[in-house]
Amino acid sequence: MKFYNLKDHHQQVSFIQALTQGLGKQQGLFFPLELPVLESTEVDHLLKQDFVTRSSRILSAFIGDEITPEIMQKKVKAAFTFPAPLLTTISEKIAILELFHGPTLAFKDFGARFMAQMLATVATDKPVTILTATSGDTGAAVAHAFYGLQNVRVVILYPRGKISSLQEKLFCTLGGNIDTVAIDGDFDACQTLVKQSFDDTEIRQKVNLNSANSINISRLLAQICYYFEAVAQCPQEAREQLVIAVPSGNFGNLTAGLLAKSLGLPIKRFIAATNANDTVPRFLSSGKWQINPTVATLSNAMDVSAPNNWPRVEELFRRKKWSLQDLAYGAVSDKTTQDAMRELATLGYISEPHAAIAYQVLREKLHQDEFGLFLATAHPAKFKESVESILQQQLPLPKALASRVNLPLLSHYLPVDYAKLRTFLLQQSQ
Ligand SMILES: *Cc1c(COP(=O)(O)O)cnc(C)c1O
Repeated sequence: MKFYNLKDHHQQVSFIQALTQGLGKQQGLFFPLELPVLESTEVDHLLKQDFVTRSSRILSAFIGDEITPEIMQKKVKAAFTFPAPLLTTISEKIAILELFHGPTLAFKDFGARFMAQMLATVATDKPVTILTATSGDTGAAVAHAFYGLQNVRVVILYPRGKISSLQEKLFCTLGGNIDTVAIDGDFDACQTLVKQSFDDTEIRQKVNLNSANSINISRLLAQICYYFEAVAQCPQEAREQLVIAVPSGNFGNLTAGLLAKSLGLPIKRFIAATNANDTVPRFLSSGKWQINPTVATLSNAMDVSAPNNWPRVEELFRRKKWSLQDLAYGAVSDKTTQDAMRELATLGYISEPHAAIAYQVLREKLHQDEFGLFLATAHPAKFKESVESILQQQLPLPKALASRVNLPLLSHYLPVDYAKLRTFLLQQSQ
């Protein structure tokens, strides 16, 4: 299968090229040239299969035979070693899909681990540098997915002081082939530094750069799989009336859901839920794309005001002739986020701010005859401090976190200065 550059449709690459290059010319995102559509009988058949078998089929539908079905099955099995359970405990009309049962307790484990498996599959002897910016959870997922892989150096930029200390402990204590860099700026500044590096042909070649952000198409494709898993677990009568609310920052997760729908998965509509960084909700209501400065919120993994994946969302709507008016949306303040967390707690579900935002907007936008589902993207213990103070109750630390809290932070520190980052990339790559 081919993938084309959204900024220059003439640039068409294979899956392996899209995987290893990350971005195309002019920092353009890659997008599938063919959008496969499965017959509904085939979708029904897939929904009866186990998660790994089904996911391998879905990924092969987008990726084609560059990766043989046998290898795909093996790699998916190695990547998806944890479940995505659907809970229907809070109401008859609303379900929760928990995506945080992987090693770093956030949904980003799915994409990062699949990408690492794919890169290991196509690796050559030439060392590569994975450069990525994180608003919190990507860094941990990428660091753990790549930790110890031969010939791979990982450099992770994150906004200094703007991620939770537990998040930081989870990925800044590994060492080895993982370099973490605290940047004296916000997430958008980190993302800009990554883009500048990719624009720098010399650096790109010298250290053999790749990105593991959600801009890498392999991560996005992996995330399609858990939408199928969600539908597979849904009550049969919910399938035709299913509405999914996605807590969104860079909009990779939503893009994956839309790709699942485009493949034929019965999802009636989606809801994009953001925090106060509401560039997309404002765009959908006014038609104007206006980026405000990023503000820090309780849901820090969604503190993104220039969402990277939005061009992919628009392209998919254009190609499928869908209307953006059918995409529901809502932006939630920190205060309302806290209220939603408390409400969920009274219903018997402990959530963290990101999931609570999706729940809140779902509740506002769900129609009577519909069945709602929201994605729980991180384990509440990952946001222990804020969750405990909002809910006034203690949270036990899961093992993945407890084992790291007493380890020293190994991060480097850099100002928002591309020249300094450049030197850092070159220096340590010797
Ligand atoms: C990354 C992240 C999000 C946002 O996902 P996008 O794909 O960037 O829209 C939401 N919640 C959590 C916990 C995250 O880590």
